[in-house]
Amino acid sequence: MLFLAEDYRGGFQALQDGELPERPSLYVHAPARLDASLAPAGCDNLIGIVPVGNLDAYPDEDWQSVRDQAREAIFKRLASIGIGTVREHIKLEVCYTPCSWRKRYNLFKGATHGLSHTLTQLAYMRPHNRHARYRNLYFAGASTHPGTGVPTALVSARLAAERIMDELGMDQQ
Ligand SMILES: Cc1cc2nc3c(=O)[nH]c(=O)nc-3n(C[C@H](O)[C@H](O)[C@H](O)COP(=O)(O)OP(=O)(O)OC[C@H]3O[C@@H](n4cnc5c(N)ncnc54)[C@H](O)[C@@H]3O)c2cc1C
Repeated sequence: MLFLAEDYRGGFQALQDGELPERPSLYVHAPARLDASLAPAGCDNLIGIVPVGNLDAYPDEDWQSVRDQAREAIFKRLASIGIGTVREHIKLEVCYTPCSWRKRYNLFKGATHGLSHTLTQLAYMRPHNRHARYRNLYFAGASTHPGTGVPTALVSARLAAERIMDELGMDQQ
């Protein structure tokens, strides 16, 4: 479920100014509702995602404090729709900040979605699947063509594979 901030545009402006808005937009997902194997029997799990800036944009950010604010914002939003007791039932909790994403997955600037889809980073301006100079070097993934997200990254892999097969004159059937 997506919870959009009442002041959606203002919320993103606050992020650009290095602050977490009081009531940020957020995304809550309960994956065990689709696949029971994702939680122990009789338990549930909940993922809450709050958008924040990247490490370069805010090199001096106190990420632990941002994490605490984001966590509170999730509990408050859930309470506002009548789910007020989540906090009391937590048995295990893991929190990731941009620092965690960088450390754990080597994500550039800790940015979970890679290069953003701004006008100057879209279409021809986005890094291509094939290196401009080293023509036998190919790229696949969120920060190249066509863009970010799991389905899109898979399309990127297909495009790169098709190009390589094309180059090698291989049949793509
Ligand atoms: C919390 C969160 C929620 C998301 N929600 C969604 C969603 O709902 N829908 C959606 O479509 N997308 C979502 N995304 C985005 C999506 O996960 C990414 O866009 C996608 O995974 C990018 O795929 P990728 O293959 O480019 O990179 P990644 O999935 O990041 O894979 C890169 C891999 O390379 C490894 N690696 C890095 N450096 C090295 C190195 N030097 N040597 C060897 N290996 C290395 C990393 O460990 C990693 O395993 C979400 C991302 C996050 C973090």
